[in-house]
Amino acid sequence: NQERQNFLNTYLLRLTVQKGENLAKQLDALSRQDSLTGLANRRHLNESLNSELNRALRQQQALTVMMIDVDYFKVYNDRFGHLAGDECLRQIAKLLSSKTKRSGELAARYGGEEFVLVYPVMDADLAEKQAIIVLKTIEALAVSHPNGHSVTFSIGIAVYLPTENVNLEQMLHHADAALYIAKENGRNRYEFFNKSMRQKKSSEVIE
Ligand code: GH3
Ligand code: MG
Ligand code: MG
Repeated sequence: NQERQNFLNTYLLRLTVQKGENLAKQLDALSRQDSLTGLANRRHLNESLNSELNRALRQQQALTVMMIDVDYFKVYNDRFGHLAGDECLRQIAKLLSSKTKRSGELAARYGGEEFVLVYPVMDADLAEKQAIIVLKTIEALAVSHPNGHSVTFSIGIAVYLPTENVNLEQMLHHADAALYIAKENGRNRYEFFNKSMRQKKSSEVIE
């Protein structure tokens, strides 16, 4: 009868709308994800980093940004092939997401074999401890590398106090500058960008 027909029509309509909403949600999630590793992509990173920066300011908390680059990864690809390289990146992604489990923490794929970690409420001392853990964890994973030892990371660290006036681009630029120094100093290590950290944590001077 008519009543039943109306009921069914309403029900069907609701299902269709819901499907659309779910699909939209899924698409939105996908657009924020790196397809190879499932980590946050650059778009997601930018959004998170901005909101964590705002939160750090509001709550007067420190904020740490780490940029990680896989050491000698071209050699790895050239020797083991691109597929093995992809698999290695997936393993690395798993490791990094296991090190960013707390609220507000994020692991993102920044580019080819470069990753960014965001750590709210983390000062320089904690950041140093965390960087050591990350270096030890990739070492413990013991992914064999053509150059004889296992796959390693270089890490650039930038730490911000709520009094500092920075933006998204500057934070990433600072972490990248520190990463460059870590490469220069021999890889498989971390370096700090921060001026106050220069004497304490790093032998090299960053200009
Ligand atoms: P460094 O220690 O200075 O970082 O040396 P590197 O060889 O890691 O750096 P370089 O920038 O010369 O090479 C990066 C290589 O990463 C190039 C490319 O072969 C590899 N790569 C980048 N993106 C991907 C990817 O999505 N999949 C795979 N398999 N390899 C990638
Ligand atoms: Mg690189
Ligand atoms: Mg590299």
